Amino acid sequence: MREPSVTDSIQSVIDSGLPLAVRCGYCPRRVLIRRDRMAHFAGNYRICALPLVCSCGSKDVAAFILETPDEAETFIEPNSSPGGPAQPGAWRPIF
Ligand SMILES: [Zn+2]
Repeated sequence: MREPSVTDSIQSVIDSGLPLAVRCGYCPRRVLIRRDRMAHFAGNYRICALPLVCSCGSKDVAAFILETPDEAETFIEPNSSPGGPAQPGAWRPIF
């Protein structure tokens, strides 16, 4: 797993076949955004410019690029989520 560089686009993540890992900096929520949910942001959108907001209302949200499928499973390990499993549908883009 690595932080996105300025050259990483949504399309490059989709091409990788792996979801985008997203972590809130305010609450413990961690979510994977599946490729099909990223498809409509593809274009030339860069990951570091992706307008994400957590369901807690925080915009302190960091995206990470996964490099292996195993990383996807360990990323969402429910080690610190008091409200049960994370809810992927809670994440949405803000334009
Ligand atoms: Zn949050």
